[in-house]
Amino acid sequence: MIWEVPTIARKLADKIHGQVLEPADRDFDEARSISNGRFDRRPDIIVRCRDADDVRASVDFARQERLTLSVRGGGHSYAGNTVSDGGLLIDLSLMKAIRVDAESRTATVQPGVTCGELDHATQAHGLATPGPTVSSVGVAGAALGGGSGYLSRKYGLALDNLLSVDVVTADGRQLRASEHQHPDLFWAMRGAGPNFGVATSLQFRLHEVGPEVLTGQIIYPFDNGDELLRFFRGFIADAPEGFQCYPFMIRIPPIEPFPERFHGHPALDFVLYHLDPRAIDYVQPLRDLGEPILDIVGPATYESLQKSFDTGLPRGRRYYSRGHYLNELSDASIDTITTHTPGMQGGLTAVYLEPLGGAIGRVDSAATSFGERNARYSFHILAGWVEAADDDSVMAWAETFHAAMVPNATGGVYVNLLGDDEEDRVPAAYGENYRRLIELKTAWDSDNLFRMNHNIPPSA
Ligand SMILES: Cc1cc2nc3c(=O)[nH]c(=O)nc-3n(C[C@H](O)[C@H](O)[C@H](O)COP(=O)(O)OP(=O)(O)OC[C@H]3O[C@@H](n4cnc5c(N)ncnc54)[C@H](O)[C@@H]3O)c2cc1C
Repeated sequence: MIWEVPTIARKLADKIHGQVLEPADRDFDEARSISNGRFDRRPDIIVRCRDADDVRASVDFARQERLTLSVRGGGHSYAGNTVSDGGLLIDLSLMKAIRVDAESRTATVQPGVTCGELDHATQAHGLATPGPTVSSVGVAGAALGGGSGYLSRKYGLALDNLLSVDVVTADGRQLRASEHQHPDLFWAMRGAGPNFGVATSLQFRLHEVGPEVLTGQIIYPFDNGDELLRFFRGFIADAPEGFQCYPFMIRIPPIEPFPERFHGHPALDFVLYHLDPRAIDYVQPLRDLGEPILDIVGPATYESLQKSFDTGLPRGRRYYSRGHYLNELSDASIDTITTHTPGMQGGLTAVYLEPLGGAIGRVDSAATSFGERNARYSFHILAGWVEAADDDSVMAWAETFHAAMVPNATGGVYVNLLGDDEEDRVPAAYGENYRRLIELKTAWDSDNLFRMNHNIPPSA
């Protein structure tokens, strides 16, 4: 640090409607803490922005003072890109306004809004837009990289539902990007957004959903995991787009309501959703595959479904992420999954398959910067654990599993699933769109001010 934090913070505070925090301030540690406990980073200054003008003033300040700039939305970056060591953190978490227009079926959202908050506001009108399945994830952080969830096979990714984004660019301009205004920037923001600016407002298209849908989990012992996955492969191939089901490989936690004899044992958890709350007969075949450890299927609100993973992935624990795309759930993929699941490490670890296709694949691959539209599955190893002493063993298990899956994978990866040590996979995350992204990055942010992300470096 070549300057005194209090002096520079005071200089900035004059321009800000929100709060400027220095390390000695009471709220500083809370404001820098993020969902992944593996990262304990300490910026020099945190600006808790109240509005887009605060964001612009902070971007200008970071650029002029040559500070490392990081941007926090919901704080759920697996790679810890939320916060830098040193420099200036733009904290958007106070910018929480949501405006739902039920008539035009749109929602306009500030960048501190979480997925749970957006679902709550839109579900009051029986509406929703696709997005992540954990309620504390930031809407903007998810949508600017993709944003997939239960509704995506029917209604696309979160970014496919974006109508416009208000952006503060690296040179401090406040622009609206849409199909008609700065279309190049709009293209780049939908997939590689964090590289191109700070989104201060996002407008989404909404769809009729719920409030009641069919939800459920059917959990089987993993002993015949290969048969279960083979059955699932056929079932999902013919499934309507209003149905989604993620097979989760987990270890049964030592808690109620799980019978004690299964505690600690690997299991296959079909987490499912159907847009029609009466579709119980449709999911029956998934309930008839043996003696389940747990079977809870029935109508429930879409909002409650969107919160059902919240307690399983608590904030502040240690997480390590590895992803692939698969063109098919081949016998070889199933063999690899059944080989590595029983040795699963980490008390919070889950490995899952997310079926894709439908509306995601109907969008032309070149229409947005998002990388992969045609894969049939996203495959995710989400290792989670508590003690730092277990880092090596858990991460080594995840790494070995991930490497074993390579021959079955497309080579691409969903950018929001990239881990902290995977910057070499960023080109693969964008596939054929990567070249255009470099050109646009060079045009919009030639000094790479926005680099605390899965970075696309400008050309020299
Ligand atoms: C528990 C958990 C569950 C998840 N579930 C899903 C899921 O179901 N589906 C899915 O698609 N993804 C899921 N994800 C991945 C998630 O979409 C990404 O990690 C996403 O980037 C998180 O956004 P955030 O705002 O919460 O995080 P942050 O760490 O705040 O932001 C992530 C990145 O986006 C940038 N960013 C955030 N806000 C803005 C903004 N307004 N303007 C510009 N850049 C910004 C940040 O600088 C950072 O680089 C999950 C992640 C976790 C940890």
